[in-house]
Amino acid sequence: MRINKNFDDLGESYLFVDIKKRVQKFMDENPGREVIRLGIGDIVLPIDKFVTKEMARACKEQSRQKTVTGYGDERGSTSLRQHISGWYALQNTNINPDEVFISDGAKSDLGNILEVFEQGITVAIPDPVYPAYVDSNIISGNKIVYMNATEENGFLPMPSDDLKSVDIVYLCSPNNPTGAVYTREDLKQWVDFAIENDIVILFDAAYSHFIRDKKLPKSIYEIDNAKKCAVEVCSFSKMAGFTGLRCGWTVVPFDISNKKLNNLWSRRQQTKFNGASSIIQRGAVAVMSKQGQDVIKENIDYYMRNAEIIRDTLTHLGVEFFGGENAPYIWVRCPEGMTSWGYFDFLLSKCGIVVTPGVGFGKNGEGWIRISAFALREKVLAAMYEICNT
Ligand code: PLP
Repeated sequence: MRINKNFDDLGESYLFVDIKKRVQKFMDENPGREVIRLGIGDIVLPIDKFVTKEMARACKEQSRQKTVTGYGDERGSTSLRQHISGWYALQNTNINPDEVFISDGAKSDLGNILEVFEQGITVAIPDPVYPAYVDSNIISGNKIVYMNATEENGFLPMPSDDLKSVDIVYLCSPNNPTGAVYTREDLKQWVDFAIENDIVILFDAAYSHFIRDKKLPKSIYEIDNAKKCAVEVCSFSKMAGFTGLRCGWTVVPFDISNKKLNNLWSRRQQTKFNGASSIIQRGAVAVMSKQGQDVIKENIDYYMRNAEIIRDTLTHLGVEFFGGENAPYIWVRCPEGMTSWGYFDFLLSKCGIVVTPGVGFGKNGEGWIRISAFALREKVLAAMYEICNT
């Protein structure tokens, strides 16, 4: 069998599978011990009824002769794409609904978009960052150049001469795992650099709704000329609790290479994708409506209050950390001499708390852990109590 040998270059298993195995082992060895999960960034609060009611209505329509629908537009429903275009207008950006493609989530598109580029291209990826970028490029056989995201650059890599020859740059802002967010000035430098060097920026804005500071950009299209070089990927997962329902979008602007990229992506989707679930898309329309944008704020505020509680506790303890202000993740330095997995094991065994080892996001993550604010308040309070008393 001639399998894709690039899979041999992937790590043992996906980060969260590794964590799951370690936590399961701990639970088997410590039956009855409560485990508080502040590791994986998965939502815990119910989706607002305003959104679920719309999905229930959409579901009912499928049971009636008059309203049943078959296949939809593989680019996504017109109504949803128009609502998303409307949301961009509120960010003072001009996105045509035909530049928007609805997906079953950001992860799929972040990997699939590589299909419209040549195989074996060079991509620049921040280290540390959301691991799916690296893995999907390994599978595609691309060459990866790592951009150091360290304390020195505020965990936000900037353009440099050695990146001039890359084909794609991945930027993730607000960042998973560090919680760092690019300013408008930073992104302008990236956009200018990308245009000058014929680079496509893949901008992952999955956490844009968590930005509190009004000066920070929620979309790369807030920067002049970004439509000439940037593809933006976004998600309903964290913003509206859709991690299980699956929906996201990707903007492929007409201005990149004279509509070429938009046409190729459209062609790819026609061939390999039949669209996201119509019922879920109706929920997404509700999310993007004015009322929807108001109601989803409640859960986002809840998670961000968790982040504040975690930040306050760490400040009180004199523990060094970053993030948590405009992102639901807090990036915490491990105590002197401890590795990421060492601190992970320590927090699990002593406090019963699951975090994510920073090294799982890249080699620069060594010596750091990520705490996720996606948890019920009582769990966050219990975890902070344990940390204070250990
Ligand atoms: N991008 C980032 C930065 C993420 O952290 C995640 C999920 O954790 C995703 C994309 C995936 O989002 P989705 O659930 O829409 O696939």
